[in-house]
Amino acid sequence: MKGSKNRFKARQRVASGHAKVRRQRTDFNHKLSTELVRRHDLIAFEDLRVRNMVRNHALAKSILDAGWSELVTLTEYKALSKGKRVVRVDPAYSTQECFHCGALNKIALDIREFDCVSCGRHLRRDHNASCIVLKRGLAKVGQDMPELKPVEMEPLPVQTTGRASSVSEAGTTRPKGLEAHGL
Ligand SMILES: [Zn+2]
Repeated sequence: MKGSKNRFKARQRVASGHAKVRRQRTDFNHKLSTELVRRHDLIAFEDLRVRNMVRNHALAKSILDAGWSELVTLTEYKALSKGKRVVRVDPAYSTQECFHCGALNKIALDIREFDCVSCGRHLRRDHNASCIVLKRGLAKVGQDMPELKPVEMEPLPVQTTGRASSVSEAGTTRPKGLEAHGL
């Protein structure tokens, strides 16, 4: 009797612990999405709704746990009222396709940095992936990849550390001050 009561209490504690984590996550996603929309005209997300990803990928659970879709949804919602664009891009091979030359590097998931098999450039996996996502996002809205770096790379801060400068190139119609963002 006593034992089961304790167990019930323990379950309650665990449940409220989960609720707390969820609240914190939502709070973080709110802050981050607000900041993303405030700072950037274009925000590109990998579309992790892609079924294979969730069904087969070892990452599926952590992606879902991390509240990715919540972040994307919040960002899309906030962007609407600010006239900003959010695009979802195909995530396929985003961490393996070389941003510079397009070669596919078949690299195990735990390898974080590698040299491209084709062009030999040293690639940091996360950085390369954000370049690819941004490139795909820009392609979706009909823009070329400017000479810029994705601004958000390292641990997701609510503060961003840099911003892409506007670049005017012949033949592009990019408005002055457009910033692009790959995530
Ligand atoms: Zn390459």
